[in-house]
Amino acid sequence: MAKHGERKFRSVRRKKRKGFCGTTGSKKRPKLTKEPDQDGLAGSKLEVSDNSDASESEELPMEVNVSASKLQNSSFSMYEEQEGILTRKKSINVGLGVPSVNCDNIASGYKIKDATLLRDCIASAAICSFCRKSQSTLQLFQRDYQREGLAECLFLRCSNCHHETELKTSKRLGGVGGGAHEVNRRSVLASQKLGQAGLADFCARMNFCPPVTKKSYNDHLIQIEKAAVEHARTQMQDAAGRLSDLTKNKHPNSIEDENGTEVAKVAVTVDGTWQKRGHSSKIGVVFVISVATGEILDYEVKSLVCYECRAREHMDRDSEEYKAWKASHTNCHINHSTSSEDMEASAAVEMFGRSVEKLHLKYTTFVGDGDSSSFGRVREAMTAKFGDKYPVVKEEVWAMCRREWVQLSESLKRK
Ligand SMILES: [Zn+2]
Ligand SMILES: [Zn+2]
Repeated sequence: MAKHGERKFRSVRRKKRKGFCGTTGSKKRPKLTKEPDQDGLAGSKLEVSDNSDASESEELPMEVNVSASKLQNSSFSMYEEQEGILTRKKSINVGLGVPSVNCDNIASGYKIKDATLLRDCIASAAICSFCRKSQSTLQLFQRDYQREGLAECLFLRCSNCHHETELKTSKRLGGVGGGAHEVNRRSVLASQKLGQAGLADFCARMNFCPPVTKKSYNDHLIQIEKAAVEHARTQMQDAAGRLSDLTKNKHPNSIEDENGTEVAKVAVTVDGTWQKRGHSSKIGVVFVISVATGEILDYEVKSLVCYECRAREHMDRDSEEYKAWKASHTNCHINHSTSSEDMEASAAVEMFGRSVEKLHLKYTTFVGDGDSSSFGRVREAMTAKFGDKYPVVKEEVWAMCRREWVQLSESLKRK
């Protein structure tokens, strides 16, 4: 077993390395070298380049550049392997451009750099703009007591006049007191699978400064969740709009007038994903997906657990402390009480029930894979709620594919 496990591990490593080492471009990049720490500057820094000169960046030609695409996405091989992300190799294959040696771009995004190299570069290239003495050199320092998570407080001090210039390593996101540092928010977003302890471990091994504390990490997660939910809501609204337009153009008979509002009758399928495999997952997410566009129109999270409730399981239910907490606990995550298998059906019923009000759509065709038990529950619930105003019919996947195929071959025959 151990041998088998070892072999498997190696194969994963090889696969991961492929993304990083497979291009000649990586050979041209300067390697990070480790030098002894001096002047209180230790190790590598995550640094954001100052790109605040908007006029300068506007004058630059906006070339479709592979390196820029990689910066936008991420250079992690795991992400590169996913379809839809443009790697250098993929873009060459599809003829979207070859990396040019003459193409210089204004630096943007975060860089991992060794602080000693940065310090040496500044010291050798710049003089003080305050005293403008040619013998002045700018030395890079850091104030550890002003550090906030990964956002460090660096500053340049002139060797001649001792004038200090702040060198921020992260922009703030705006809001009260300037808001959170972007680097801290991004590090939480990027490390959701690692957690705060995993992120701290990563930072320690990379010789970064420590990340935000556990409490701040959780606060960032809450903000990220808010943004993600809001973004998903907008995306789904847009998807519903596109589906309505498509239905209007292709099947005008499927548009109904409901109290002065146009409602499109559409075909959807319901699918779920679970936190754990099998039928014991405590959390599940169920989606309604448009058959015509393949876009997600709505989702519902079903949870059998609430970690706040679980943390207070030991408390006396009759105590004043418990009662006060229970009254204030208005955002309990438990919204499902029956079995895990039942999550899909109950979520589907909720989403069908709100489709007209939320998206101006009626999911009148339920495309299932033969054994989807949700259909019966949905039809019952819709009949109970809307009577005959919301009829739902089931269509098997194979029947739908056959119908589409027949339509396609007929249209080709006519041509
Ligand atoms: Zn000076
Ligand atoms: Zn709860």
